[in-house]
Amino acid sequence: MALIVQKYGGSSVADAAKIKNVARRIVKTKEAGHKVVVVVSAMGDTTDDLIKLASQINESPDKRELDALVSTGELVSASLLTMAIHGMGYQAISLSGAQAGIRTDTEYRQARITKVESKRVVSELEKGNIVIVAGFQGVTKDMDVTTLGRGASDLSAVALAAALKAERCERYTDTDGIYTTDPRLLPEARKLTEISYDEMLEMVTYGFKAIQPRAIELAELYSVPLLVASSFNDNPGTLIHKEVSMEIRNKVRGIAHDLDVAKITIVGVPDHPGIAASIFMPLAAAGVSVDTIVQNASLENITDLTFTVAESQLKAAMAVVEPIAKSIGARKCIGDPRWGKISIIGTGMQNAPGYAARMFDTLSKANINIQLITTSEIRITCIIEESKVKDAVRALHRAFELDKDK
Ligand code: ASP
Ligand code: MG
Repeated sequence: MALIVQKYGGSSVADAAKIKNVARRIVKTKEAGHKVVVVVSAMGDTTDDLIKLASQINESPDKRELDALVSTGELVSASLLTMAIHGMGYQAISLSGAQAGIRTDTEYRQARITKVESKRVVSELEKGNIVIVAGFQGVTKDMDVTTLGRGASDLSAVALAAALKAERCERYTDTDGIYTTDPRLLPEARKLTEISYDEMLEMVTYGFKAIQPRAIELAELYSVPLLVASSFNDNPGTLIHKEVSMEIRNKVRGIAHDLDVAKITIVGVPDHPGIAASIFMPLAAAGVSVDTIVQNASLENITDLTFTVAESQLKAAMAVVEPIAKSIGARKCIGDPRWGKISIIGTGMQNAPGYAARMFDTLSKANINIQLITTSEIRITCIIEESKVKDAVRALHRAFELDKDK
């Protein structure tokens, strides 16, 4: 008998019929002889709706109160799901994040889990209960309710799986796994049977919005195998774990893309110590997160500095950078949202030459100009025009033979 943590996303519990469907799946796992802990998200768009409602009452609601409000979404789905399981004649109990022992710091809206006191969950399991936990939330030392950031029911599930030393964490949504690239963009994308934590983390960080990044980090830290599958069918999903068998022919595992990229270039920056700090420290202080940074080697002590930010942060970034550019004597400062990012990712690329060359060659044959390039050990990213991203995904998917089986 294993202990399994399952997590069901908002689309899987969006209405009464779907909640009953999820209840049947949970009962099946229980019937197979397992102990089951379930983490649920709020029904459908409940969280968005609650945030909207709050903004109609007060334009900038107090963060503590907002957390108290939005955390109710998960309480609703947890108790309804429990009632559905009772209706099938099985024992179950719903618990809030606080009751399940999810302790956090006091950073409302983005709280970090400090520990999981799993005593209550364990004792309910021992009584034979299926335990249904409200995701996305925890509680501070002073018993104030916090939420863990958007999409963080994934994180709740992995944290519980880690604390309970579960055999695995199964995450169910309306998609049935992780694909070589976004199947909505490229229909020939292929579902992966497995992917490593590191690869998955690079995929989500570079635009593949499949799962919450902090959940993957935590899963890796505690070696929790994470299965991503659908709650609407029984197709085999994708296992995110440590040991991924080497694919001999095909060392790129996936392609991530991101359209939410804006580029800022400061032209004619005097090249002397302290200049980069004088630009990036105020940006950090203004809460702008900077991604790719490129500075050219200078000619005659004048250089160009280029970096990217999310499009939603372009205005805030320009407001910070423009006056600084002026004060340091730079020629001008250009902000442009029409950029995108394309990345090839795979642990098999480590220490294997030729991937960058093949990527650049493929893009050039597709007539796509590369603006900036960044790499990690297992990723190569190019910044290209937003309008060319789709073509780039298609060309690279083919060039690296991701459409073919391993
Ligand atoms: N309901 C929360 C959200 O929409 C948490 C989650 O779904 O994971 O962000
Ligand atoms: Mg863009």
